[in-house]
Parts: sequence; structure tokens; C-alpha cells
Amino acid sequence: MIVKVKQKATQESIDRLLLHLKESGFDIHPSIGQNTTLYGVIGDTAKFDANSLMAFECVENVVRIQSPYKQVSRSIQPENSTIDVSGVVFGGNEIVMIAGPCAIESREQLERIAAQVKSTGARMLRGGAFKPRTSPYSYQGMGEEGLQLLQEMGKKYQMPVVSELVDANDLPLFEQYVDMIQVGARNMQNFALLKELGKSSKPILLKRGFSNTIEEWLMSAEYIFAGGNPNIVLCERGIRTFEKATRSTLDVSSVPVVKAASHLPVIVDPSHAAGKWDLVEPLALAGLAAGADGLIIEVHDEPEQAMSDGAQSLKFDKFESTMQKSRLIAKALNRSM
Ligand code: PEP
Ligand code: MN
Repeated sequence: MIVKVKQKATQESIDRLLLHLKESGFDIHPSIGQNTTLYGVIGDTAKFDANSLMAFECVENVVRIQSPYKQVSRSIQPENSTIDVSGVVFGGNEIVMIAGPCAIESREQLERIAAQVKSTGARMLRGGAFKPRTSPYSYQGMGEEGLQLLQEMGKKYQMPVVSELVDANDLPLFEQYVDMIQVGARNMQNFALLKELGKSSKPILLKRGFSNTIEEWLMSAEYIFAGGNPNIVLCERGIRTFEKATRSTLDVSSVPVVKAASHLPVIVDPSHAAGKWDLVEPLALAGLAAGADGLIIEVHDEPEQAMSDGAQSLKFDKFESTMQKSRLIAKALNRSM
């Protein structure tokens, strides 16, 4: 961490700052020039709120050198983490495909979709049972019955299942029925929820909030990791920008940035980024080409009738074509799929 002090700062105010830093356990290396005075602050600054130094009247600027996240950082663990979700491994050589409906609507609907995505090569089945809808009047999901159906179809078609948890009180249900727990974009900074998930034995799929920086996203992963659960897969799902042509703007660059900053696997959700079915395939391919360890794609047998996110759901033929082209990208990258 580097602290720049104001040119006209009094010695007394600088002494107060230096005492505070020393009492916080840091070594201080001054660099005093004609016009600029800098203090290099050496020590474990990861648990230190650098911005709090702005409260000192002599401080002009603070620049962090170390990342505020620690356990999820690649500097702590240089090799990739591999996360095993009931036999499906993220972060290894394989590109993992997760597919299924946005929301579970009925046994018949889920079974039709599960059978198709399995035969097309999906490794995991997704399905929302507790939906975080923007409108309270929109379909809210089947609840526990949906989770039961998801577990049933996952077993029948031999795919581990993932579903989104929106309320920490429902954690016991998720522990019972799913192989992986999804934290949605809207809950990425629900720190109470993240703390609870730190105590869970289930792997977590942590989506990026649509208004969150990469650093904030990794800090949320740090919450889960620091809470005791290192089994985290990150998911880029698009961020909110000024652009209206898509539902969100897929931040493709976050994939290599996160891969460099963290040892955790990263997958891409092209469906929620696109918001439109015809944009899902190109975004999926872009995500893989950028180095994603997998994709999570919404698929529906009758998108026109879907209770949630029909506009971005792929019909079976389109999902098949996306899978075929994804295999070509995997091959070009020397990855299995
Ligand atoms: C979802 O996966 O259905 C979902 C609601 O995603 P997000 O949290 O990324 O919007
Ligand atoms: Mn959805």
C-alpha cells in the first residue's frame, strides 16, 4: 500500500498517521521528495481497510498494491482449483456444460428438457425453483416441489443439479436436494447469505452481480471461502451498461482477468447476458474462446410458453448447434467437452 500525503500537511498530522500505521502492525518506508511525500506501507494489508486512511487530514491518496481478497487469489495458490460437483469437475481440462430451464414448471416440462440436454452432451441440469423475479406478480417458482423434481430428473438422467437459493432459511432444503447451490446476480452481495454458504458442504455457483466490479465479485467469493467453503465456481452473466441492445453486456474480458487474479474456475452464462435467444450462441462461443471453464445455458422445449425468460431460452435445435460449435472451440483450445 502506498500513501501519498498532502504537500502542505503539518508534521504533527503526518506523525498521527505514521503512529496509526505502526500500531496497525505495518513497516513504513518513506520516500520524501521536493514536492511529493510517499509512504510505502509494508505488511499484510489484505485485512486492512485502505480507504479508512482517507479520514486522516494529511492523506491525499492511498493506492493498494495487494488485492483485498486473499484466499481466492492466485498469488496464494498459483495452480487452478478443481471443484468436484458430484463427479463433474470444473477447472480441469474439461469444458463443463450446464443446461436446463430458467424455472422448473412441471415434471413433464423438466423431463423433456432434461432428456434432450443430456442427449446433447450437457453434464449438469439447471432449474430455478425459487425465482428472484423483478416483479412480485411474475412467476415465483415451484419451491420445494421444484427442487424435488430437479433431484428426481438429475438422478434419472445422471446429471448433478444446480438451483438458485434466495433465502438462507431454505438452505436445509438445498442441502437435501441439489448438488450445487447458485447465488444469483441479485444476491452476490447478500453477505448474510454468503456467510451461511461458507458453512455449507455444497459447491457454490457464484454469479457476478450486474452492477459489481470484478474485485467486489472476488470479495464475495472470499466471504464464502473465508467462511469455510472453498468449493466455488464463478459465473460471469453480464453487467449493466448504457447499451440497450442486450439485457446485460457480457463482460467477456472478466474471464481472463479473473483467471489471472484467482485460482477459482469461471463459467459464462450467455443467456442472461443476451436476453435474446439469437444472441446466446455467439456469446457462448465468445465466453469459451476467452477461456471459460464452462457455460450455463437456458433451454426450453416451448420458449413461447415459458413461465420465465422464454425470450432468451434456446429451443432444442439451437442448443444442439451451440453444443456442436462449442466442441469445435474446445478442440481448438485443446480442451475436452
Ligand atoms: C437465473 O439463473 O435464472 C438467474 C436469475 O440469473 P441471474 O442471477 O444471473 O440473473
Ligand atoms: Mn433465467
